[in-house]
Amino acid sequence: MDQASIDALRAEVIGPQGHLIGGQVVPASDGGLMETTSPIDGRVLTTLAKGTGADVARAVAGAREAFEDGCWSRQPPAARKKVLLKWAELIEAEALALAVMGVRENGTEISMAYKAEAGSAAATIRYYAEAIDKQYGEIAPTADSVLGLVHREPVGVVGAIVPWNFPLMIGAWKLAPALAAGNSVVLKPAETASLTLLRIAALALEAGLPPGVLNVVTGEGPVVGEAMGLSMGIDVLAFTGSGATGRRLLEYAARSNLKRCYLELGGKSPNVVFADAPDLALAAKVSAAGIFRNAGQVCVAASRLLVEESIHDDFVAALVAAAEAFRVGDPLSLETQIGAVHSERQLAQNLHFVDEAEAEGAQRLTGGGRILTDTGGTYMAPTVMAGVAPDTRLAQNEVFGPVLAVTPFRTEGEAVRLANGTDYGLSSGVWTRDLSRAHRMIRAVRAGVVHVNTYGGSDLTVPLGGVGQSGNGSDKSLHALAKYENLKTAWIQL
Ligand code: NAD
Repeated sequence: MDQASIDALRAEVIGPQGHLIGGQVVPASDGGLMETTSPIDGRVLTTLAKGTGADVARAVAGAREAFEDGCWSRQPPAARKKVLLKWAELIEAEALALAVMGVRENGTEISMAYKAEAGSAAATIRYYAEAIDKQYGEIAPTADSVLGLVHREPVGVVGAIVPWNFPLMIGAWKLAPALAAGNSVVLKPAETASLTLLRIAALALEAGLPPGVLNVVTGEGPVVGEAMGLSMGIDVLAFTGSGATGRRLLEYAARSNLKRCYLELGGKSPNVVFADAPDLALAAKVSAAGIFRNAGQVCVAASRLLVEESIHDDFVAALVAAAEAFRVGDPLSLETQIGAVHSERQLAQNLHFVDEAEAEGAQRLTGGGRILTDTGGTYMAPTVMAGVAPDTRLAQNEVFGPVLAVTPFRTEGEAVRLANGTDYGLSSGVWTRDLSRAHRMIRAVRAGVVHVNTYGGSDLTVPLGGVGQSGNGSDKSLHALAKYENLKTAWIQL
């Protein structure tokens, strides 16, 4: 990756986009269009088909037909693997172009997007491709007179609804296990981050995925997403996004066919720093990266810093210095460490959180404002708010922006109470050199992930999911396959 190649790609004109349904690029049923705008400079990038309920119905019917005819669902796992591996190869060959296209649409710094988007999507597809022909059914430990078999079967049609922050990575976390297991999929990207998912869906066809097995319907959440939620033809809905939308999806499922809903939602993740952390300077740097990279638009962002009172002032000073040292700016510059806030709406929301926290008694130590206004884009300085009381809105609610809430604690017990004191339970961090304390904290903190003496590290081998109002079910790891499979028992009298 070099700056000249990025600059050449950023100038490319992107033509109008349609849905991908039944292997064809098609317009919306009523011809509707919507614009997609770049947070880099506020300019329109291109138009997308603005999906309708009829488009969803058509995609679901096609997906069902493809599923029933067995062109994919009844292929031997080794044959599906071959196509998926080819798909990963095609994605990887376009990794830089995909990364640049994605950054133009969502504003993530290219250094992060290059690894976290196409590269990660290709790795995820390979992981499930390689897993699927190594997965066995079971013979149950029954009495001798019978044989009990447990088959794993694809569920049928999977609906996937994904957000804008990491469309390819999160999209692949759903698409790869769902397709590997033999399902057909209808995918709805976020209205403001559809381009890269449309492109990889086209590459799937090129790799040999039969038409109709993977469909992409673009459009607005309350129209396309709602139609998917209410569809009688979708068997499993895999969602990543906000809690408010997750709640709606559960309602849609209850009002329609009781489809299984897997919800990967937001977080307000605590990052607990004890005075005996092995390297406080490193802890400050990693903690700053844990909240500020991608302008805080990361579901597992370390958005609450809980720091032991005896080191509070020094530690927070080091963190503020790290925050102020980040280079915020053009996400397509290799120099940039923090890119754009995704939209005007998101930026306004971030700024409102800061004002409100100040009104509730928190102190703004750095940041808090919009910057780089002359670019026409949406940028915000990394913001540290200290003295954030645990019951205030900033301590309790996800900002999804570069705003850190700092709260001191005195004892381990108080740290646990504060860490567990929100409705969320997605990620967390603990910094200590005391092994026993680290294990006590791992058990005590209510979250899907506990990082120890680091923050944010992960790979495909481990699940990512939340507890409480951070959702249910997990993406990644072999466990994710079960979301897209049904178990079937055969009970044979011998
Ligand atoms: P969002 O809920 O607004 O949108 C997510 C998706 O849902 C989009 O595709 C959107 O079009 C669709 N949608 C919106 N309204 C809908 C409706 N009424 N019916 C059906 N679908 C609808 O969330 P967002 O702003 O795109 O993403 C940010 C949120 O996602 C944050 O809360 C973040 O923490 C969360 N997130 C979670 C994870 C995780 O793994 N847990 C990962 C990334 C992001």
